[in-house]
Amino acid sequence: RKIPNPNEIRQELENFAKEKFGGNVQFFAQDMPFAKRPEPEEAEPPLEEKKTFDWKFNSTPKQVKEYLDRYVIRQDEAKKALAIAVCDHYNHVRACHENPELTETSYAKQNVLMLGPTGVGKTYLIRHIAKLIGVPFVKADATRFTETGYVGSNVDDLIKDLVSQADGDIHKAQFGIIYLDEADKLATPRSQGRDVGGRGVQFGLLKIMEESEVDLRSGNDIASQMQALMDFQTKGKVEKRIINTRHILFIVSGAFTGLKDIISKRMDQNAIGITSEVVDADQKDDNFEFATTEDFVEFGFEPEFIGRLPVRVNCQNLSADDLFDILKDSEESIVHQYERSFKSYGINVTFEESALREIAARAEKEKTGARALMTVTEKVLRDFKFELPSTDIRDLVINKKLIEDPEGELEKLLKDASYSQSHVLRSHIRFFEREFAEKYQLEIQFDEKATDSIISQCENADIKINEFCEKLLQSYEHGLNLVKQNTGRTQFKLGADVVENPKTVLEKWIKESYQ
Ligand code: ADP
Repeated sequence: RKIPNPNEIRQELENFAKEKFGGNVQFFAQDMPFAKRPEPEEAEPPLEEKKTFDWKFNSTPKQVKEYLDRYVIRQDEAKKALAIAVCDHYNHVRACHENPELTETSYAKQNVLMLGPTGVGKTYLIRHIAKLIGVPFVKADATRFTETGYVGSNVDDLIKDLVSQADGDIHKAQFGIIYLDEADKLATPRSQGRDVGGRGVQFGLLKIMEESEVDLRSGNDIASQMQALMDFQTKGKVEKRIINTRHILFIVSGAFTGLKDIISKRMDQNAIGITSEVVDADQKDDNFEFATTEDFVEFGFEPEFIGRLPVRVNCQNLSADDLFDILKDSEESIVHQYERSFKSYGINVTFEESALREIAARAEKEKTGARALMTVTEKVLRDFKFELPSTDIRDLVINKKLIEDPEGELEKLLKDASYSQSHVLRSHIRFFEREFAEKYQLEIQFDEKATDSIISQCENADIKINEFCEKLLQSYEHGLNLVKQNTGRTQFKLGADVVENPKTVLEKWIKESYQ
């Protein structure tokens, strides 16, 4: 007996009513409690990147976070805090533009201090924010200043870099973002006296972080001197080109190793002493969120410097699961990059989930965050990229086995024609899954055993993969849609039992979806 589909009944009734009475007729859930109506679509359109800063900037923090979610996995607290800081900052910039009197009112700039280990998305977040708002962005390492030991104008170089990022457009540059990484290297422990480089750099930065006017033509660098010389030759004098730093947003970041101990020590003391701030062992591992200005001063920062960075943001370490999500879901995942680069040699490459998990697990061991994903993948696929373009192999499925033994798999592919043939058939199965997902918005995935079983049946009976799978799953589009309507489920793993007995499995799933 065919199990009735409530949505089909509703559709039929609505069509009938439309014919009978004209116009649109809708039955709601209370009229037909057994039929579920699909959730309404999200109303707000997604944000798009901008080429230049838009004076009408009026995005909400939520919209900014949603935009960041497309690229950056995890770091939700950081995304939220950054989205708020950025919206506040650029709303203020806009308000000052509309009403210049506001410029004179006191306003604490939302400069940001970001803490977190390497490779977890700090730069990536800021780069995307700058792109979204359409402002120039400069990243520099704080070590650049401490190493030269030369302070003053060097800090101004950041502003000059921003102007060159904006193609010399001062107006654009004055709303830009300056991102200073490895800022923890600027810390100067109290014991080391007053004249150590890092402290001087902190004061230099303090000036431009607040508000100061930087003359782009001053300075000892070659570009400034050439420009001054050209000015002198053409105009008979050196003209000033001034940029005000009032609206430039500063983001300062670092790994801040050692700060954790300072925080723990203070909290332990507090726990014993007057306050009752009791901290358990778990919290101590990742206690950045408890950092106070006092801790940063103890770490070696000037109170004025830390005071100019009112927004504190923590980025978390990424687990193997997070790294897997980055590969699978981030819009700019390196997986797409590899697909494109193989495609340019006419090779279709498909990454199986098992391979992505293995890459993520290996990357996690490197302890360099998401950076390691590229390192691991590059090493595994290097020889494939070198060899395959000169062969007639047109399909490559990357599975766990291939990640574990790239040399062996490549050798088999190149030498053994039947192995290569079964590899091609695998890729046809992956292609069928992708097409199914696109056509019906239902993600199906045959597991290893199911894949092997399909290949052997197709080889034995000399049937094309596509024909076999279409026949095998002929009632699945309808059946899985029913399950989707009843439970919201859209992903289905298909095991060997589906290949052996497709009807029984489907009926079981449908039945369960009504419970
Ligand atoms: P850092 O935290 O040291 O500034 P980056 O932001 O430069 O690290 O990260 C290096 C690269 O790793 C990025 O360009 C991006 O491709 C990837 N990446 C890092 N973290 C994430 C994340 N949370 N989500 C998605 N991709 C990430």
